[in-house]
Amino acid sequence: MCDAPSTSREHVPPKCIFPEKKDSPKGVDFRKNLIKVPSCDRHNSHKSKDDEYLMFVLASAFRGNEHKSNHFASKVLRAFSRKPHVYSHFMVSLSPIMLRYPDGKIEHSASFKVDLRRFNNALFQIACGLFYYQYRTKWQGGYKVLTNELLALDSPNAVQTNEVVQRVGEKVSKAFEGQDRYGENDKIFTYSIISDQYDRHAIYMKFYEGIEITVLLVNL
Ligand SMILES: [Zn+2]
Repeated sequence: MCDAPSTSREHVPPKCIFPEKKDSPKGVDFRKNLIKVPSCDRHNSHKSKDDEYLMFVLASAFRGNEHKSNHFASKVLRAFSRKPHVYSHFMVSLSPIMLRYPDGKIEHSASFKVDLRRFNNALFQIACGLFYYQYRTKWQGGYKVLTNELLALDSPNAVQTNEVVQRVGEKVSKAFEGQDRYGENDKIFTYSIISDQYDRHAIYMKFYEGIEITVLLVNL
């Protein structure tokens, strides 16, 4: 991330998104061969709050498998009761919502406003780590985060916006079909990288088998 000398090694993505063995109902180890990259003090210690925020947003996302739900019900709720002030700040504009499925089924849930600057920055840091891990060189250009996991709820054009976002999301996931997938704990996290000759890179990440986020590393 910077030019400071590395003093430690940092997990990418952060270790806290991988369930601990004690929280896995079947005792599965989801922390096999986690990826680590060199990090300076500042980037390692400053990151922990953002890592926790990312863990919270991912674990409360709509998509994702049962391991995501278990993670929410165990580690995230534990952290919540330990640090209620921190976690209540994570849920800005918390409101009840009703989800209607195509078959007509209704589910009561809740929405909160995601701090995009924080969310995007956490994902950019993961992308930089994976980029370094793959190519052994630092990414020093710009970035853009794409995901169809976040929805517009209160803007006047929310329906149209969400349709565009969903379509882009489907195209991105098609583009990555058949690409090599990395990550040893595939129920929790996998990634792929596509690079072109113009030093542009797309890093596709899949969390909990359902949450898809792509970070474009490009010189904007
Ligand atoms: Zn640094």
